[in-house]
Amino acid sequence: MASQDPRPDLLSLVPEELDTILTRHFEARGEPAYRAGQVRHWIYESGVPSFDEMTNIPLSGREALAEAFRLEAPEAETISRSRDRTAKHLWRLADGELVESVLIPSWDRLTLCISSQAGCAMGCTFCATGWGGFGRQLTAGEIAAQYRGSRAWAEAEGYGPVTNVVFMGMGEPLANRKAVHPVLSILNRGFGLGARKITVSTVGVVPGILELAERPEQFGLAISLHAPESELRASLIPLEQRHPLPQLLDALRTFRDAGGRRITFEYTMIRGINDDERLAPLLAELAHEFHAFVNLIPFNPIPDQDWVASTPERLEYFRSTLEAGGVACQVRQPRGRDIDAACGQLRANALVQLDEESRPRARARVPDAAGG
Ligand code: SAH
Ligand code: SF4
Repeated sequence: MASQDPRPDLLSLVPEELDTILTRHFEARGEPAYRAGQVRHWIYESGVPSFDEMTNIPLSGREALAEAFRLEAPEAETISRSRDRTAKHLWRLADGELVESVLIPSWDRLTLCISSQAGCAMGCTFCATGWGGFGRQLTAGEIAAQYRGSRAWAEAEGYGPVTNVVFMGMGEPLANRKAVHPVLSILNRGFGLGARKITVSTVGVVPGILELAERPEQFGLAISLHAPESELRASLIPLEQRHPLPQLLDALRTFRDAGGRRITFEYTMIRGINDDERLAPLLAELAHEFHAFVNLIPFNPIPDQDWVASTPERLEYFRSTLEAGGVACQVRQPRGRDIDAACGQLRANALVQLDEESRPRARARVPDAAGG
């Protein structure tokens, strides 16, 4: 459990549930129905961390709200800003767990990368989050709060509005579907972000991909592929043993056939590990079948692992092979490396590990500990 607090967290509710619970609350108190709309407005349009700051509600009303409900608002333990303006928030949750979210500005957008779990149970060999092991699932409110808090900070700091959200922070979102499904609704229908501006990234949790395909909204899906062949993939991603590539590709066909959705392949390029020239046309073939956009990500160095990124020549070889195969792709420049904010570098849980007394459970590297 994330919290022992019995009061429902308003930020964990999908917008329709929020409206219902607030309408009932004000009705029971004999207060005007428009108060529900006022609170909803504070939640979705502002970043105020408590009911106390909802200043158009009378004081007694604010006190009654705080008695009945809570509003998830983790504290920003640190905010680091990179030379390239990438900004990382380290959030301290109510029970002391730490998670990170990253704002990545580019000329035409501001992308927010959010975490769905404290740590990750998947144990991928190339990822610092995976090396840290699994902490716990985040609640919907704890995920939505990263958006709410980062957006408020970005607007105050002149970064402008958040235009895109990607579930590429810590954790495997499709191993926390109980929270991630409501968050998708909260971001889309509550905060008003278009479904196509929201991308769920998965290492290949097949049941989760099939559930996303059933949703009517056209959320984007990024598949962390990293190898076009099952055997090589299994050496990088333990989950490949449970959901092998052919099964993953079948799920992707279902997702594609659901219509109108963007599929991206993420391919982290590690020198001498998954960048053999022979693999480039295989990757092109797969991407072509799904009209997938391919992100080639130069491996970001992580502690406890001496691998390095592929050479620029090899990255270019993959890029041109994909392009020649009719596949849209880009080499993704690492962002925020100087503040450990780049892909695969998030491992806030390591900070908690230093303080073993506050951590009763062991962090085992069990690929299926988080369900899926
Ligand atoms: N668990 C999800 C989302 C978080 S990981 C997933 O794996 O898709 C976000 C992205 O960072 C994934 O594509 C992941 O493969 C990539 N990544 C992990 N470690 C990396 C590293 N050291 N260098 C570059 N990319 C990495
Ligand atoms: Fe977890 Fe994704 Fe890292 Fe694998 S790459 S350990 S699934 S966060």
